[in-house]
Amino acid sequence: MSDKQNITVLGSTGSIGVSTLDVIARHPGRFRVVALTANSRTDSLFLQCQQFEPEFAVLLDADAAQSLQQKIRDSGLATVVLHGVEALEQVSSLPQVDSVMAAIVGAAGLRPSLAAARAGKRILLANKETLVMSGGIFMDAVRDNGAELLPIDSEHNAIFQSLPRDFGRGLAAVGVTRILLTASGGPFRTKPLFALENITPDQACAHPNWSMGRKISVDSASMMNKGLEIIEAHWLFAASAEQIQVVVHPQSVIHSMVEYADGSVLAQLGNPDMRTPIAYALGFPERIASGVSALDLFKIARLDFEEPDMQRFRCLGLAYQALRQGGTAPAILNAANEVAVAAFLDEKLPFLGIPSVIEHALEQVSAVPVTCLNDVQEADRLAREVASERVRAAGGGAFAPHSSLLTPH
Ligand code: NAD
Ligand code: MG
Repeated sequence: MSDKQNITVLGSTGSIGVSTLDVIARHPGRFRVVALTANSRTDSLFLQCQQFEPEFAVLLDADAAQSLQQKIRDSGLATVVLHGVEALEQVSSLPQVDSVMAAIVGAAGLRPSLAAARAGKRILLANKETLVMSGGIFMDAVRDNGAELLPIDSEHNAIFQSLPRDFGRGLAAVGVTRILLTASGGPFRTKPLFALENITPDQACAHPNWSMGRKISVDSASMMNKGLEIIEAHWLFAASAEQIQVVVHPQSVIHSMVEYADGSVLAQLGNPDMRTPIAYALGFPERIASGVSALDLFKIARLDFEEPDMQRFRCLGLAYQALRQGGTAPAILNAANEVAVAAFLDEKLPFLGIPSVIEHALEQVSAVPVTCLNDVQEADRLAREVASERVRAAGGGAFAPHSSLLTPH
């Protein structure tokens, strides 16, 4: 038995996955990688297997898994290659695994995150979609199985660091009045509205402060990322929609704040580099080196704050609406957003079509109370259908420039 922390990294080839392995590599005596997983990037996963020698490597696709297994065999490694969603669940719940970094993007992350919760693991949760889609089910699974939840999303990690350890007693009970969720405002905060009509995927993915995967980069540009984070904060900290205030803070130095009844506001600051929240969660409750340089306050010199512009960022309003509505509404919001973002990245939908597709799905698919995972999966399926149909109509001109997209309704 080693006293190392045994860890599975889900989505190891992505932006968060790579940053996680970067921090792990800085502490060879501390962590042992049990499993690495990816969607289809065989080459990157193979290189990671050579470096970290995990017991298991998982690819979603069977053919890709076969080609990885061959490479691994040829190189003399002992890693076993598995494939499919069940395998992702399996490596999230192995008895020898202590912690699971949940860094798959989108709804695909839900089942493996849930498997880790049901197996009572320490979960380092980057996949915010798990909480957006099925926060109630997931939080119940964490509590009922003695799992431990550490948020990786920089804002939620900052809030976690700024809350007292016993915040689970309820925000009011520990003297918290509001959560101040910071947002950079993305690359289009100050661009004239009409100029947003012809935004390209590369423009949307060029975030001023953070380097991230493409889906979350588009979400940041539309501010749907902040919308999803409001719902994420609701579940993580048992905060109502009214207790969560979005604060636009273009420098991304303060990663979020907690306001207390006595007028105190506690914040966590740092350079915008995900290795800080990742190292915090990997080492918790100890602090370990992350490779992130010290914050140079003299160079930063000033911090600015603004109220969010709800007309410009319609996605933010739609997320508040879905949170207040409850039940499967956030799952509908999330699924429609995934379809719309994929279509935008594929140049099949203009940037400003994203909120319209989501609004349409929220109108067309009735939200129902969540009693089991099936309810969530059904809402996800229906919303994808309705949203895809809307995107196809967009190809037929429903989102032609100069339509009424700029008018919030
Ligand atoms: P990414 O696109 O860079 O990486 C996603 C990873 O998931 C890759 O390893 C990919 O192979 C895997 N994957 C994709 N689809 C899959 C599928 N269907 N089945 C199995 N695996 C699949 O994404 P990212 O930016 O690293 O984001 C990961 C998660 O972390 C997202 O939920 C995102 O919202 C959240 N997050 C990211 C950041 C960031 O800075 N990148 C910050 C906060 C939160
Ligand atoms: Mg975030």
